[in-house]
Amino acid sequence: MAKGQEHLRQRLLELGFDEVRFVGLSPGVGQVGLGDWLKAGYQADMDWMERTAEKRLDPNLVLPGARSAILIGVTYHDPEVAQPAGEAKPAWARYALHQDYHDTIKPALVAAGKALEEVLGAAPTDYRYYVDTGPVLERAWAARAGMGFVGKNAMLISRRHGNWLLLSCILCREELQGDAPVLPRAAPESVGLLCGKCTRCMDACPTQAFPAPGVLDSRRCISYQTIENKGMIPASLREAIGLRVYGCDTCLEVCPWNRFARQGRRLILSSRRDIAELTLEELLELTAERFAKVFKGTAVKRIKLVGILRNACIAAGNSGEQRYRGHVLRLAAHSSPVVRAHAVWAARKLGATEELAACRSAESDERVLAEY
Ligand code: SF4
Ligand code: SF4
Repeated sequence: MAKGQEHLRQRLLELGFDEVRFVGLSPGVGQVGLGDWLKAGYQADMDWMERTAEKRLDPNLVLPGARSAILIGVTYHDPEVAQPAGEAKPAWARYALHQDYHDTIKPALVAAGKALEEVLGAAPTDYRYYVDTGPVLERAWAARAGMGFVGKNAMLISRRHGNWLLLSCILCREELQGDAPVLPRAAPESVGLLCGKCTRCMDACPTQAFPAPGVLDSRRCISYQTIENKGMIPASLREAIGLRVYGCDTCLEVCPWNRFARQGRRLILSSRRDIAELTLEELLELTAERFAKVFKGTAVKRIKLVGILRNACIAAGNSGEQRYRGHVLRLAAHSSPVVRAHAVWAARKLGATEELAACRSAESDERVLAEY
């Protein structure tokens, strides 16, 4: 074990991280399935996944001389924000009910880098850190480092935090001794090591987005469609989206391992529970100014006004509530063709066909009609 390694772990835990684990980066660590997943096209139009594949498979291309990685977990479990199923409110992925975690975790990672320099004598050029989006295999490495196992829902599942962990990674040139995986005799990246016969996540997925255990087809996933997809959401998936306006937690919520999840220490993440209080009406009435104000500093700002209006239109159509007719008819004349197309869909779902005919003749375009 590198001198000072346990002291380093302690220092990092004091920064507010909930999990700190080490892994050695021998060639081939964590390579399971990435090539096949890309070949099948499951990354949808997230081209960066393909572009960065080589780097993900070889950490030396990211940081020449990288020998270890420090895997960091921050839990966002908060039982008080659990949204009752069936309640006619817009539904949000739980992580969205915080200030953007990329922004709030990054300062802690800067402090972690300083700790690395002080405790292990590393130079600032000896390490690189990533929150979630780097060209690194953080989930597979976290499994190898014993932070948890990869569940059939394709998430890292921890015995202490369930599947509510946000992962970060510090690649470094120091040689650190790896922590033991959860089942020392099994291949740590294997899917479903502690799932047993359970298939709840796969069964509960509203769009059947798991072609196999642990394999996610992003093209069918509501999280991808409502967040990453900036254009039209396939009409065949819209009903299954229900009232979800940003992401989907269904395959996370149902996992029985979550019963062991502890409340986070809340030292790093900053809660924005007020977002969960927004009504669908408020979302449908958002203006650019109001959107900027309400979602300032949150992950939701990334999908921009058009994204949230698009998603709100789908939710309005799926709600079956006539009180949203006026809203979606107004949005059927929106300046964005993406909003118009989904508003037209929602208006039809709400039976506003006649009013729509007048609206369409005034404002629609080819793209709306094609989608319609
Ligand atoms: S996030 Fe939702 S849509 Fe995506 S795989 Fe999980 S349950 Fe299915
Ligand atoms: S819901 Fe069941 S099958 Fe899915 S990840 Fe959790 S334990 Fe595994």
